Amino acid sequence: MRGLMQDWPLLTHTIIDHAAKFHGQIEVVTRSVEGPIHRTSYAEISVRSRRLADALRRHGVDEGDVVASLAWNTWRHVELWYGAMGLGAVVHTINPRLFPAQIDYIVNHAGARLIFTDLTFLPLLETLAPRLGRIEAYVVLTGPQTMPETSLPGAMDYETFLSHGEPDFPWPKLDENTACGLCYTSGTTGNPKGVLYSHRSNVLHAMACAAPDLFGLRARDVLMPVVPMFHANAWATIFMAPMAGTKLVMPGGAMDGASLHQLLEDEGVTVTAAVPTVWMMLLQHLQETGGALSSLERIYIGGAACPEIIIETFEEKYGVEVFHAWGMTEMSPIGTVYGALADTGKLDSPDLRKLKLKQGRPPYTVDLRIADDKGDDLARNGKAFGHLQARGPAVVAVYFKGEGGRITDARGWFDTGDVSTLDANGFMEITDRAKDVIKSGGEWISTIELENITVGHEDVAEAAVIGVAHPKWTERPLLIVVAREGCDIDRDGVLDHLAGRVADWWVPDDVVFVDEIPHTATGKINKLALREKFRDHKLPTT
Ligand code: AMP
Repeated sequence: MRGLMQDWPLLTHTIIDHAAKFHGQIEVVTRSVEGPIHRTSYAEISVRSRRLADALRRHGVDEGDVVASLAWNTWRHVELWYGAMGLGAVVHTINPRLFPAQIDYIVNHAGARLIFTDLTFLPLLETLAPRLGRIEAYVVLTGPQTMPETSLPGAMDYETFLSHGEPDFPWPKLDENTACGLCYTSGTTGNPKGVLYSHRSNVLHAMACAAPDLFGLRARDVLMPVVPMFHANAWATIFMAPMAGTKLVMPGGAMDGASLHQLLEDEGVTVTAAVPTVWMMLLQHLQETGGALSSLERIYIGGAACPEIIIETFEEKYGVEVFHAWGMTEMSPIGTVYGALADTGKLDSPDLRKLKLKQGRPPYTVDLRIADDKGDDLARNGKAFGHLQARGPAVVAVYFKGEGGRITDARGWFDTGDVSTLDANGFMEITDRAKDVIKSGGEWISTIELENITVGHEDVAEAAVIGVAHPKWTERPLLIVVAREGCDIDRDGVLDHLAGRVADWWVPDDVVFVDEIPHTATGKINKLALREKFRDHKLPTT
């Protein structure tokens, strides 16, 4: 027997409609790419999203067409998301930090006809344009007064483009499984692969992630997503905030410590989210300037393992609670977030810290398991570690255009490529990427744990561990360290710091000091580049 409730498809534009109707005057504040602070509201964004949908339609964009964005977090980018998705088109977010050749590949693979871009990226696109044959028009996210001369074909400023649409454009009726977003994974090997989100997956995911033990967003919060809209759906923040009536603060292209600090303070931000490197920069800025964090209450950190020093400094020095999260583009992207249990309050502070260093627990709609090499379930005891697998309504089923073939097993489990433990309460802890884990004498060594402990040394700014070939043990760890400016630290100092904190056989065989560690386009340590660089490194133990 069918239930007799209304058929109300889960469509992303219903979120902005809700915000316009019930939280209409709530602000969306942006540090614009042009410079000045810009203020708008959910009511205005909703009207302009409809205008944009109509303008796109008049431009020949139809349901199922792909529209690309190469853009920072701004109110105009939010309008593009809601407007294009509401029309039934697919917004393909491009990460500008990818190599130009990768951008070229994904734009052509995704098949967009229009690119919406910021002033920042005009020189890049002018160079790439001859190779982006399908692109008919470039819409620059600015107004007519600030529109520069450009050689891009069909270039137009956004405000002029928008003026071609009507503000009362009626959203077309769409099935909730209609595609609405496309984001390519930043895989370090092979070509990037596209993850195609649906309206339903985005809405369900945002509802699950807004719950109290996850982002816990409230109408009285002020959320600043520093995580870019081109990095894995901006961690659902662009959907969660209007759902909850939370004020949004968008940093535009300025993600240095001083600019972020100013926005945090001026706009009364209570919640923010970004990768660890962003927070390291902010902490350094606060240390140099003696600045305070007067409104910030919660900070969400993910995308790479969160070093203990970040949690310690935010919580103890600034009174800001840190929530460690894990996810991936393929999971929309949130998989787990730290959340306290009834008895967590009784933990001694070192035990609480250990718990907070784990990546957290999954919300309803995310199912997780760990499996051994044969695919059998491993114990959920917080000790056994193996391949982390996921399934759920916002987890990828197939990559765009079937790239990579079948990616789930017979029971629908998607292998995340991460290695982790899982405990009886659902706390998950990443120990490595499967391809980074060091296999020494048949046992596994977690590079993430070694890195976290190393950056706990006060003279270490950043650390990376990679496996180097060893004749007896197959692989042994090599520790690569960036020393803090003006600090005097040597090999023995680092190794002494690790001794006693990890098993003897985990202690790296060698330490090298470098000026800089390379990062990927999404802020992760680029281990592939490091393995390449140190491939012939001779360990003193060989
Ligand atoms: P992306 O799709 O670019 O967000 O990358 C996803 C990958 O980032 C995951 O599969 C993990 O390897 C890594 N990752 C994300 N969050 C964390 C975290 N909190 N700790 C460790 N690794 C993480």
